[in-house]
Amino acid sequence: MSEQSTGAPSRALPVVAVVGRPNVGKSTLVNRFLGRRAAVVQDVPGVTRDRIAYEALWNGKSFTVVDTGGWEPKATGMAASIARQAEYAMKTADVIVLVVDSSVGATETDLAAARVLRRSDRPVILVANKVDDERGESNAAELWKLGLGEPYSVSALHGRGAGDLLDLVLDAMPEAPREAEPVGGPRRVALVGRPNVGKSSLLNRLAKDERSVVDSVAGTTVDPVDSIVTLGGEEWRFVDTAGLRRKVSTASGTEYYASLRTEAAIEAAEVAVVLLAADEVISEQDQRVITQVIEAGRALVLAYNKWDALDEDRHHQLEREIDRDMSRIAWASRVNISAKTGRGVDRLAQHLRAALASWETRVPTAELNTFIRTLVQGTPPPARGGKAPKIKYVTQADVRPPRFVVFSTGFLEAGYRRFLERKLREQFGFAGTPIDISVKVRE
Ligand code: GDP
Ligand code: GDP
Repeated sequence: MSEQSTGAPSRALPVVAVVGRPNVGKSTLVNRFLGRRAAVVQDVPGVTRDRIAYEALWNGKSFTVVDTGGWEPKATGMAASIARQAEYAMKTADVIVLVVDSSVGATETDLAAARVLRRSDRPVILVANKVDDERGESNAAELWKLGLGEPYSVSALHGRGAGDLLDLVLDAMPEAPREAEPVGGPRRVALVGRPNVGKSSLLNRLAKDERSVVDSVAGTTVDPVDSIVTLGGEEWRFVDTAGLRRKVSTASGTEYYASLRTEAAIEAAEVAVVLLAADEVISEQDQRVITQVIEAGRALVLAYNKWDALDEDRHHQLEREIDRDMSRIAWASRVNISAKTGRGVDRLAQHLRAALASWETRVPTAELNTFIRTLVQGTPPPARGGKAPKIKYVTQADVRPPRFVVFSTGFLEAGYRRFLERKLREQFGFAGTPIDISVKVRE
């Protein structure tokens, strides 16, 4: 049996988060994982080095490594800061690696991180770093007291134990990466878009109804990363908005960091609002953000902001741009807003609800097959090399987002798969969500 796919959302890679105090060797370890010297640890003043994600490959398995490096200059205190980091890792990662400097031993901050991570339902691997030789092993053993099981001794700098550690990380990884499961509470929304489209302005407008998220972690109040916002009579959790609330400088080099933050926010969310500036041409950078959402398989709402700044001419021009550049996501729901005047902002809620409903739609198998049978009778798959493939059966394998598997006697051409997607959408809706169609060939 072989497979093909529409090339629509591929499943996101499993995520390994590396957490720990500054200077324990997280970046050095991540570079080990990557097998090269990654040139990203660039310090632009005013930029918090926050959660840098890389794609890694070990023993034929790909995964994403997130270096949760960011240390905010503001004095919330180291222990609170690391607890926040650990909380975030628990929300978004499949495996968590806590790095401790064995030459220093367990500090108060390490203990605070360990306390948080002991609650994790994800595997946590404790790394005793800077064990450069045999003599260091006894320091490593001392870290049992963190209550996270066996400390795994490595030297990130010299590579000692790094290969074995990677095997361990891979073993701890789930078969399928974690999905955005409902964790209860408000639905999770990512507010994303290229710089200057108005994300901070929109958040500030929404935040007039904001209730602060007070996560009490072992007695410390953690600086919240998310904002709970009331919109359309309902509470929503806007994820990872810390960076939007306290705006970092837009000096050069930040775009890269912004895109990584976007990725983390999308991963943590169920639905993404991609904000666009209606008064400017839809750019490649806008398209990249949209692609990130689709590839992560999240529901999508397009919000055209700055509607107050539009004149008649630009309005017509924009409609033409949308027809031309947005046809690949004609299914996305669209709302016109102004963060400045508040126009349309309330309507965001209904768009979010609709997109989430589509994202969670499950079509009963019988209904699906009745529909497909009629469809295929009317328009059978075209013959390739003389013989036309026969579609035998279709099933919806998954939701969040909907994924369909078509069982067929032969490959289905891309054009025909797009036809199936279009018809499925016409029949069953799916406004606001990507859908995936894969084909399994059985002779
Ligand atoms: P991060 O702040 O946790 O990302 O830490 P870095 O990776 O930047 O490392 C901090 C310092 O510790 C650097 O000077 C590294 O060279 C050093 N370091 C990292 N790993 C090791 C190790 O295994 N052994 C020794 N001796 N030094 C290390
Ligand atoms: P961010 O980088 O996406 O967070 O964007 P900001 O919220 O910082 O907004 C960038 C600029 O656009 C600022 O000068 C805002 O005042 C302006 N802006 C944001 N929303 C609107 C809007 O709805 N209408 C108009 N006219 N300007 C806006």
